[in-house]
Amino acid sequence: MEEVKDILTGLDRYEEFLKKLELEIQKMDSYRIAIIYTDIKYFKYINDTFGYQRGDMLLKEFTRQVTQGNAGMLCAARVFSDNIVMASRVSNDISNEEVRETVNRHNREMEERFRENYSAARLKFCTGISFISKEDRRLDPATAVSNANLARKIAKEMKDDCCVLFDSRMVEGIKKEVEITSSLSKAIAGGELKVYYQPKMKTDSIRIDGAEALVRWQKPDGRFIYPDEFIPMIEQSGQIVELDYFVYREVFKFIAGRMKENKPIVPISVNVSRAHLNKMDILSYVQSLFDEYRIRPDLIEFELTENIYIENTEKALQLIEGLHKMGTKVSMDDFGSGYSSLNLLSRLPIDIIKLDKVFLQDEETDNNLKENDKIIISCIIDMAKKLRITSLCEGVETSEQSDYLSEIGCELQQGYYFSRPIPENDFENFMDRSFAGGSLVIA
Ligand code: C2E
Ligand code: CA
Ligand code: CA
Repeated sequence: MEEVKDILTGLDRYEEFLKKLELEIQKMDSYRIAIIYTDIKYFKYINDTFGYQRGDMLLKEFTRQVTQGNAGMLCAARVFSDNIVMASRVSNDISNEEVRETVNRHNREMEERFRENYSAARLKFCTGISFISKEDRRLDPATAVSNANLARKIAKEMKDDCCVLFDSRMVEGIKKEVEITSSLSKAIAGGELKVYYQPKMKTDSIRIDGAEALVRWQKPDGRFIYPDEFIPMIEQSGQIVELDYFVYREVFKFIAGRMKENKPIVPISVNVSRAHLNKMDILSYVQSLFDEYRIRPDLIEFELTENIYIENTEKALQLIEGLHKMGTKVSMDDFGSGYSSLNLLSRLPIDIIKLDKVFLQDEETDNNLKENDKIIISCIIDMAKKLRITSLCEGVETSEQSDYLSEIGCELQQGYYFSRPIPENDFENFMDRSFAGGSLVIA
C-alpha cells in the first residue's frame, strides 16, 4: 500500500490531505473551513547554518506546535519542505479577521518559544488563510489550498504581521505578474522597452555632469508600465538580469555613437539589480561591452541600492572591486531609505553616495525641507566629504531645495526641477544646450 503519511512529521501526505478535505467539504454543516498554509521564513538559513539534522528537528517541533491545541483541526499535511497546510473548522460566529488574529498570535508565540529554546532568532512563521463556506462547497480543494498559498506568499513579503487573508484580487495580481514575466523577452526584442535619461547637475555651476539611465516600457497601445510596477516581479523571476543587460548595451551604444560623432558626452549611470549578486556574470558581461564598444570606463557608473550592500556585503564588495578594476565608478543608491548603516560607508569603497528622495519629499510641508531632514542631509554630506565620497541628492523638485543643497555643499543634484527622465533624442538636445551654455531648467 502506498504510504499516506509523511515520514518526518507524521502528517498526511498532500494527496491524502486533499482527499480528506474533499470529504470534509461535503460534510460541512453550520460552520466553514479555514485553510491555513504556513511556512518558515529563513528556514534555509537554519539548514545552512546549523545543518539538516537541526533543520529536521525544528520542522518536527514546528509541526507539533502548529497543529497542537487546535480543537477544530480536520486534517493537516506537509506539502513540501517547510510548507505545512491545515484545514480547520471555524464557527460562523467568528469573523475571518478574528481567525487571522488568532493564527497570527499563535505564530508570534511560537517564534518567541523557538527564539528561547532553539536560539533561532531570525525565524519567522508566515501564514496565508483562505476559507471554504457552505455556499462554495463546489470549490476544488486544491484551489482552496492554492489560494491560501498565494496569501502566504504575500505574507512572506511583509515585515511585521506575516499572516494574510486570501482576497480574490490577489488572483488578478498573479495574472498580471504572469502577463509581465511571460511577455518581457518579446517586449525587449520588439522594441517596447526604451532607455530614458535623467540629467544630473553639478551644484556649483548648475551644468550637466552626468545622467542616469532609467528603463521605460511602452505597450503597443501607447500605455506606459513604470519600473516600480514590473521590476519587483521580474526581479523575483530573475529576468531582471536580461533587462539590465539590455539597458547596459543601449547605454554603451549611445555613448559610442556620441563619441563617433565627436559630440560631447557625460558619464551615464545604470542601475544594478540585487539579482546579479546570485550569478555575478555581470562583470564578464560589462567587460564584453567595453571590448565591443571601446568607450572610456569613466563614462559608465553603476548604482547599487543601499539594501544590496546590507543584504550581502561580501558579494557587493566583490562586485565593486570587479567594477573598479575595469575603471568604472560605483554609487550607493537610495541612501537613507532603509536600514542605513553608516559604517558601511567607511567599509565599502564606493565613489558616490546618492541620498534618497525621501529626505526631500514631504507632503505635509509641501516639499519645504523640515528642520530635522535638513540636519540629517547636511550631516551625511559632511561625512561623505570627509570620506572623500561624492555626494548626490536625488528627487530635487524646487529651487528652494536646490539652493539649500548648494548652501551645504552637496556636489550633484538630480530631480524633476532640472528634468524628468527623458527619451534619448530629448536628452541629446539637453546635453547640446548645456554644453552650448543655454538655459537648462525646465520647470
Ligand atoms: P531609482 O534608481 O531610485 O531611480 C529614481 C526614481 O525616481 C526614478 O523612477 C525617477 O524617475 C524618479 N525621480 C527622479 N527625480 C524625481 C523627483 O524629483 N521626484 C520624484 N518624485 N521622483 C523622481 P523610475 O524611473 O520610475 O524608476 C523607479 C526605480 O526602478 C528606480 O529607482 C530603480 O530602482 C528601478 N529601475 C529603473 N530602471 C531600471 C533598470 O534599468 N534596471 C534596474 N535594475 N532597475 C531600474
Ligand atoms: Ca538609481
Ligand atoms: Ca534612487
